[in-house]
Amino acid sequence: MANGERLYTTEAIIVRRRDQGEADRVLTLCTPQGKRVVIAKGARKPSSRKAGHLELFARVRMVVARSPSSWDVVSQAEALEPHAALRGDLVRGTYARYVTELYDRFVAEDEGGPALFDLLSRTLDYLSQVEVGESVPPALDLLVRAYEQRLLSLVGFRPEWGRCMGEREGRLCGRPLPVRGKTPLGLDPERGGALCAECFQASAAQWVMPLSPAALGLLRACQRLPFARLRELRVSPALLAEVERAMHHYLTYHLEQDIRTGTFLRRLRGARGSQKAEW
Ligand SMILES: [Zn+2]
Repeated sequence: MANGERLYTTEAIIVRRRDQGEADRVLTLCTPQGKRVVIAKGARKPSSRKAGHLELFARVRMVVARSPSSWDVVSQAEALEPHAALRGDLVRGTYARYVTELYDRFVAEDEGGPALFDLLSRTLDYLSQVEVGESVPPALDLLVRAYEQRLLSLVGFRPEWGRCMGEREGRLCGRPLPVRGKTPLGLDPERGGALCAECFQASAAQWVMPLSPAALGLLRACQRLPFARLRELRVSPALLAEVERAMHHYLTYHLEQDIRTGTFLRRLRGARGSQKAEW
C-alpha cells in the first residue's frame, strides 16, 4: 500500500462492469454512500481471488483504497449476496439489467444514498426469489413498476397519481382523479403526473398520452402498496402492458429532458437524503 492511501469498507451492488486494459475491470457501484466508480485491478486474471466476488448484480462487502487522481481501487471483496439466479436465467437477468440501468441513468456519480441502495438491494432480492415458470409471472412486472415509482420519488421525480396536474386558467387543476370508468385520462410527464378527462381533452401538448382510469389505479397501487400486497393483485396482461407503456413514456421523457437541461441534477440534490423508500 503506497503512502497516503486511505482505505474504506463499504457494501456495494455491482450495477455495471466493463473491461479495462489487459486484465482490469471498471465497476459502477450502488453503495449506501452513493454511486461510485472503482477499478478492480487484475480481476480478469484466472488467478484473481477477487474475481468470483465481483459479478454483475452481486451485493458485496469491499475494502477500497481511495485514489486522489484516478478511480478508487478495490483491495478486497467478499460477496454477501451473489444473486446468482439473476445471471443464470434470461428472464430474471433482463429484469435485473433494467432495474440496475435505471439506477445508473437516474443517479449521477457521488449522488444517491442509503434509501436508493436499500431499494435496489431489496428489488434484486425479490427478483431472485420470484418463481419463474414457462411464462413471465405478473409479479415480475409489478415488482419493476413498484421499483420505478420508488426510484422516481427518491430522485425527486415522484409522479402525482392522486389529483390532476393540469392547468386551468393559470392554476393547478388539482381535481381528484377517478380509477373507475371508461373516459380516458391523460399522462403528462412534463407536468409530473396524470390529467383529468377535461384537462386531457384540452391539452394539445404532443407528449401527453391517454391513460385509462384502470391504469391510473394500478400506478397508484404501485406507488403506495408494499410489494408483498402488490404481488397478490390480479392484473390482466393488457393492463400490465398499458402501465408499462405509460412508465416507459414518463421515464424516457425525463431522461431526455434532463440530459438537455441539467434540471435533473439540481432536483436530485434537492431531494437527496430527504426521503425513505417504504417497502
Ligand atoms: Zn384537470
